[in-house]
Amino acid sequence: MGDGLDLLDGVGAVVKSPGVPPRAPVVAAARERGIPVLGELELGWRLVDVPFVAVTGTNGKTTVTEWLAHTLRLAGLDVAAAGNVGTPLTSLVPAPPELVVCECSSYQLADTLEFAPEVGILLNLGSDHLDWHGSLEHYAASKLRLFAHQEPEHVAIAPARVAVPGRARRMDLVPDWRASLPGGHNAVNAGAVAEACRALGVAEEVVQEGLRTFAGVEHRLELLREVGGVRWINDSKATNVASTLTALDATPPPVHLILGGDDAKQEDFTPLAGRAAHVYLVGEAAGRLAEQVGGERCGDLETAVARAAAAARPGETVLLSPACASFDQFKDYEERGRRFAALVEALA
Ligand code: ADP
Repeated sequence: MGDGLDLLDGVGAVVKSPGVPPRAPVVAAARERGIPVLGELELGWRLVDVPFVAVTGTNGKTTVTEWLAHTLRLAGLDVAAAGNVGTPLTSLVPAPPELVVCECSSYQLADTLEFAPEVGILLNLGSDHLDWHGSLEHYAASKLRLFAHQEPEHVAIAPARVAVPGRARRMDLVPDWRASLPGGHNAVNAGAVAEACRALGVAEEVVQEGLRTFAGVEHRLELLREVGGVRWINDSKATNVASTLTALDATPPPVHLILGGDDAKQEDFTPLAGRAAHVYLVGEAAGRLAEQVGGERCGDLETAVARAAAAARPGETVLLSPACASFDQFKDYEERGRRFAALVEALA
């Protein structure tokens, strides 16, 4: 395989796959020659000529994208949820919807040139990295590309502490309504959904209905079943300690917590110590988890589910929120979540 440089002759634009690093020789050479380099997000946005609502942030993108699509459909709009959620934007070209809700990863935003969504949502900035970046402004710069080309009539939705250009709306006001999903983080997500819907002119009663009726996204604090008064929740998407802490904050105790999986990240698990009434440990990380958090070593998910089912009493919750990636025992977090759901389904 060559480096592709010979392919640049006579080329009008280079469309870069997100996996290609910005310093790849062909990308650098194209930029040097003044050939525009763009990603699939930019290409799709240019080809699908309908209003866009774009969602970015460190956490909550998929939830907010799907929640918005749900609410806008209740308002009677023909909506496609696309981008990082799974459906490529360019696949919408043959039959464009009335409106696109687009999940944007920071990598995808880095490969935009003129991307200007009618409504842009920045949910949060992983403030864990602030020490390293020195200031919120510096860290925010990459994510703020979402708003960089918006026109004056476009809308920017962001937390109050982040300065954004254009017609800013704030999503972190204390809500006076009920949302269908639990936890403070979902109150923030609901706030973003509500503000975006209002910016698009959706009637208030439809906004409220959308907030109340969204069923949530698979593998994210997903209530699977109640068996004999015990609630079983699948949060397989929680692949780091911060996400598991978020899940524990949103789940009423007592909790039977299933933890563990791939330990390649070597995260510090000690913040999880003492946070759940019962802990069941699985996978490669079980040894370090036993030292830092404590709990019963179960080996695999089958054993953990069987032991939790035997121990949990009515009114208690069993939560799979592993704080680890899944690659030691599963293809990905989705396969892990589905295996858990199947085991829970099989409980008497
Ligand atoms: P993303 O698509 O950005 O990865 P998801 O909607 O898939 O986000 O949610 C992943 C996890 O992020 C959730 O399981 C939850 O732990 C956490 N999360 C969701 N929304 C927020 C939020 N607004 N603030 C902080 N954490 C959140």
